Amino acid sequence: MNKTVLITGSTSGIGLGIAQQFAKEGYNIMFHGLEANGQAIANDIAKTHHIKVGFSNANLLQPEAIEHLVTKTIDTFGSLHVLVNNAGIQFVSPIEDFPNHKYENIIAINMNAAFYASKAAWKQMKIQNFGRIINISSVHGLRASEFKSAYVTAKHGVIGMTKVLALEGAEFNITCNAICPGYVKTPLVEGQIKDQAKAHSMTEDEVVEKVMLKKQAVKQFVSIEAIADMAILLAKDSSTTITGTSFALDGGWSAQ
Ligand code: NAD
Repeated sequence: MNKTVLITGSTSGIGLGIAQQFAKEGYNIMFHGLEANGQAIANDIAKTHHIKVGFSNANLLQPEAIEHLVTKTIDTFGSLHVLVNNAGIQFVSPIEDFPNHKYENIIAINMNAAFYASKAAWKQMKIQNFGRIINISSVHGLRASEFKSAYVTAKHGVIGMTKVLALEGAEFNITCNAICPGYVKTPLVEGQIKDQAKAHSMTEDEVVEKVMLKKQAVKQFVSIEAIADMAILLAKDSSTTITGTSFALDGGWSAQ
């Protein structure tokens, strides 16, 4: 039987890269995201890898929509083995100008959605006596940077949630871990380069060099493949004792 993975935000960036790796491993995949070509992306990957797929554009700002996304996954494939809470947004601003609705949306999508999705998946994972919850946090779940009050708060919160779910899941073979990447070149970061340039009064090239990669010892963007490989490892049967922990894939940023 092929295992099933649900990856939020899998029609762009890191989530899409993770989906491609799970497709190679033969998983059924529930794709999810707001990109208009999401269904086409899912269909292409299904054709290339001969796997079953579904697609949803559930809005993660709505708890009922998240619950429905999980139910749809279980109804479509009859199982849910791996949940990757990946979808996220960013907004960068000094706190005194930070719009309240931007703060609330970042907390809702980057943190609360992981809670609602994990909660909805829990019963099925218990029945299976198998579950792997993988939260895509960030190096900003471990370290802070100025102008990112909402994002750093949400990503730290996700790491706390990861530890709690690991404890609660232990007796059911449900593991929960977080992956904490440094900077990855995705649409989310392209947007940030622009925002940071404004906040720091710098050119976009200066932001990459002097702000983003400054804190990484390895002066390269983190590859999507490295994150996807880590997700595959965490999803394995043999990873049952790897739980409650955070993996920094951050070019040495948090080693300092
Ligand atoms: P991305 O912008 O390429 O993709 C984000 C995905 O989330 C998209 O599919 C988008 O449709 C979906 N999404 C956003 N808002 C949504 C909503 N309201 N409802 C449903 N779906 C929604 O971003 P990415 O860089 O691939 O980021 C993926 C994750 O990795 C995020 O949690 C991000 O915080 C984290 N991360 C990214 C980096 C980086 O440098 N790119 C670094 C560390 C952590």
